Amino acid sequence: MGDIERPPRLGDWICPEHGTVTPYTGGVVAACPECLEPALHTVHNARGDQVYRMPAPDYCGGPDRHPLTAGRVLIGWKPCRCQGGGGHTTWSCRACPSVLMWPPHDLAGPPTGGGWRL
Ligand SMILES: [Zn+2]
Ligand SMILES: [Zn+2]
Ligand SMILES: [Zn+2]
Repeated sequence: MGDIERPPRLGDWICPEHGTVTPYTGGVVAACPECLEPALHTVHNARGDQVYRMPAPDYCGGPDRHPLTAGRVLIGWKPCRCQGGGGHTTWSCRACPSVLMWPPHDLAGPPTGGGWRL
């Protein structure tokens, strides 16, 4: 946690705020266990450069569970104040209306006035 001094290595999970983390995996994507923001995965791209990849859920939340591989998912952002500022990363399936989000929307949080629906 917070081990920012060490450069990330291949396979590490990174939180922009908390550095290298052991991700929480109980949600739709690997996430920082402290702030629950999606954790970036340190991988090699096609040219062998070390890059940080935004995680995506394996399958959509619809009844057909479409695989959310590259090109089949739209990554978005839903501003929301339920987490005390910030919002939710969203993954929209292109084959059905399913939208997954993370962190979970806190229904007990302050009203956002944004018309957010689960
Ligand atoms: Zn974090
Ligand atoms: Zn789908
Ligand atoms: Zn929310």
